[in-house]
Amino acid sequence: MEFDLSAYAPFQAEVEAWCRSQHQNGFFPPHRAGRSRAEATAEKRRVQRELGERGWLCGGWPVEFGGGGWSKVKQAVFNEVAAYRGIPGTGRDNVGVSTVGPTLMIYGSPAQQVEFLPRIARGEIIWSQGYSEPNAGSDLAALETRAVAAGDFFLITGTKVWNHSQDVDYIFLLARTDPAAPKHRGITQFILPRHTPGVTVRPILDAYGDERWTLLILEEVRLPRTLVVGEVNRGWYQAATSLDFERSQMAYVGAARRTLETLIQLARTHQRGGQPLAADPVVRARLGELAVQLEGARWLSYRVAFLQDQGQVGTPEFSRAASLSKVWACETQQRLQRLGVELVGPLGLLSAGSPWAVLDGWLDEEYWGAPGTTLAGGTSEIQRNIIAQRGFGLPRA
Ligand SMILES: Cc1cc2nc3c(=O)[nH]c(=O)nc-3n(C[C@H](O)[C@H](O)[C@H](O)COP(=O)(O)OP(=O)(O)OC[C@H]3O[C@@H](n4cnc5c(N)ncnc54)[C@H](O)[C@@H]3O)c2cc1C
Repeated sequence: MEFDLSAYAPFQAEVEAWCRSQHQNGFFPPHRAGRSRAEATAEKRRVQRELGERGWLCGGWPVEFGGGGWSKVKQAVFNEVAAYRGIPGTGRDNVGVSTVGPTLMIYGSPAQQVEFLPRIARGEIIWSQGYSEPNAGSDLAALETRAVAAGDFFLITGTKVWNHSQDVDYIFLLARTDPAAPKHRGITQFILPRHTPGVTVRPILDAYGDERWTLLILEEVRLPRTLVVGEVNRGWYQAATSLDFERSQMAYVGAARRTLETLIQLARTHQRGGQPLAADPVVRARLGELAVQLEGARWLSYRVAFLQDQGQVGTPEFSRAASLSKVWACETQQRLQRLGVELVGPLGLLSAGSPWAVLDGWLDEEYWGAPGTTLAGGTSEIQRNIIAQRGFGLPRA
């Protein structure tokens, strides 16, 4: 593996400079930061379009589909800066770019490719992912949403959970088209325009009190066959093979670097017993320990991008590397998110707006966001199973 990223330093500096042109301190505000959802979404749409114009939104897509043809390592460099600076609509915050586009490139009809890929690359449309259901999370193939063929249409009925469908234009959906087939073999991928009759989106309050999540209720939603992606009943396999856009965990690594730097600053300025926290050797040791873990996570993540560039996707080594980096990057970010509140005690759990909130409630938001880190995109337990089974060839339980 090539450990020298210096060739990307000018590009990194260009992205950093652009971030400073957007916000004086060079950082985009967190998801809501006291703003309404509409304001946060408006900024995301504006930023997406600007990234699209600069060729950064889909830099890692092949040139023939409107991308920049970047290597996966260059994409990982961009994702690291984007997550560190909090640029909205990048990395995990854009399933259109990371999942839908790459799937359509392989399995989409020519008409779908012409209709959707350029609009995603220009940052014109926002997608959500309607995969999980109340009874299908880790065991996603157990999904129960039904799509029944009716002439040139499918009628779709079911419930999807943990998606972000309030302000989107399209939902990328998995539904069961053959209930009699073995569970992995009767699933199909669909493109669902958000405002189709029969689609109801209900907010779910998260632990932080935010309506970031939604429940999607589908009642006999009529979708034309032209919105089936790829082959009917092959959706499970398509979903599995199209996830190789950029599999490193730079989104967690970049965000974790910002968390670590903020905690170090906090340790210098926040006082306990008349002394800065940094005077306490235990605090210094914990920050040092997490810095070591973060550096490990960073290089494990770059290794994944490197293996992708080497064409190693699908090998046991790649499965092991991808899951290792997911476990380590997410768990490191989670440990950092929790340390903030541990350092300052109960004041850390005061929300933005409280006169006593530390860092205007930033620690509180980080703390409540921590549990989701090791659930999203496949839980840590599932990643460990993959490392043992696919990575080392150990038997399934
Ligand atoms: C931040 C975040 C973003 C998300 N975004 C989306 C999204 O955009 N679209 C979408 O469709 N979904 C999304 N999800 C849902 C996510 O994919 C699921 O939460 C995840 O797959 C786990 O499913 P579950 O919550 O049903 O838990 P379950 O699968 O019920 O798991 C419960 C617990 O059991 C453990 N477990 C389950 N099976 C095994 C096993 N075989 N071996 C060992 N342990 C096991 C799990 O690790 C977990 O600890 C998101 C979730 C989060 C937290």
